Amino acid sequence: MQTESDIRQGIINNEFTFFYQPKVSLVTGKVAGAEALIRWIKPDGTVIFPSRFIPIAEQSSLIKEITCHMFPKLVEDILVLTDIDEHLVVSFNASAKDFEDDCFTQSVLHTLKNSALPANKLQIELTETATFEAASIIKDNIMILRNAGLSLAMDDFGTGYSSIDTLSKLPFTTIKLDQGIVGRMLTSDKNATIVSTSVRLAHELGLSIVAEGVESEEQYHYLLNAGCTEVQGFWISKAIPICQFISFISTDFSWYSGIPVGLIHMAIVDHIQWRKNLVSELIKIASLPQTHPNRQLLKTPPLSCKECRLGRWYYGAGKMMFHDNTAFQELESPHDELHKIGQFLVEMVGNGATMETLTSYLQKLSASSIDVLSKLQNLENEGLIDMHKTTTIDSTWCELEAI
Ligand code: C2E
Ligand code: MG
Ligand code: MG
Repeated sequence: MQTESDIRQGIINNEFTFFYQPKVSLVTGKVAGAEALIRWIKPDGTVIFPSRFIPIAEQSSLIKEITCHMFPKLVEDILVLTDIDEHLVVSFNASAKDFEDDCFTQSVLHTLKNSALPANKLQIELTETATFEAASIIKDNIMILRNAGLSLAMDDFGTGYSSIDTLSKLPFTTIKLDQGIVGRMLTSDKNATIVSTSVRLAHELGLSIVAEGVESEEQYHYLLNAGCTEVQGFWISKAIPICQFISFISTDFSWYSGIPVGLIHMAIVDHIQWRKNLVSELIKIASLPQTHPNRQLLKTPPLSCKECRLGRWYYGAGKMMFHDNTAFQELESPHDELHKIGQFLVEMVGNGATMETLTSYLQKLSASSIDVLSKLQNLENEGLIDMHKTTTIDSTWCELEAI
């Protein structure tokens, strides 16, 4: 372990740097960004890992000095990286102490104002979220950075204080699934269930979900199948110095993406929920007497085929990825038709239709919904077949060792 005065001397001597660990998108199969992980490079070239000095720095205000000292360097690095690939987003770790006063927050705002880096290229990773919740100043500072455009990830989700409850208390955009859970998911059914339900939870909350600690191709495929958005781990690469990371992204290497079966499955569940929510609302209102004041309070899920969750995926990431895939194209017209029936039913009930008139039209909606589901399942089947056709990825990067 290092002492506080060693660390201070290290700051003065500029001995700290960031290594970058790639994150791969399970939608595109390409590097989507990286996590910046601090390394202390001693004059003799020895690399000291954060576990040897961050816990010591976190016991005092020294951590704030490290964070503020490193931030301009981080921005400098990201400017170089985004010049090579403008889509990259880089996350960095912050401690509760960094937000106990507004020094770090102001320094972030100041640095960003004086640089050409858009704030949405930066993501803050938080652990120990209970502490973040406790003091309002901490929450306020985080809000300032969120409002400035930085995204926010809950690190190590599923362990310690990174709990479901906290998800509603801070404006998170991303969940990072703890590497312990990821490591056990293939050998424990319970962990596998925790992974798939965490993915669903993130999806329902509109958050992206990154799995940490992916160490094998089998885990990668499991997470692709489960609907996870991004993966990070030694199987892709360890954290590497920026020059190696630049070579890494410059090769434009693709990991397997194919049809993201997990996301198709999410779309299937989204559709089932949409139909159920619409039908339950229509029945609730149509069952009321004509004169009941609540008859006017029809609360429907999005009625436009581009605004329901399935539609947002279809006309967004889906169109980008599969515009020339026949199974994908065949989904558009039944989905459009389904929404037309939905809109018609809403108008009917709005105009005073009773349960008797509604029932036969509900059958039409169900038939149309079955059509949509069958098209989605065709796409899902295609993805599953494709996934098992692919051979083992020959990734030279898997061999890369960080110094
Ligand atoms: P973290 O933020 O959860 O970062 C992930 C850690 O897991 C990193 O360790 C990374 O190298 C390691 N890791 C990534 N993939 C794998 C894998 O497939 N298998 C295994 N076994 N490990 C993997 P690292 O770099 O030693 O960092 C440890 C922790 O130190 C970080 O955990 C973070 O909490 C903290 N840390 C790192 N850099 C900073 C920083 O700049 N500021 C602050 N405050 N904390 C930092
Ligand atoms: Mg982290
Ligand atoms: Mg983590």
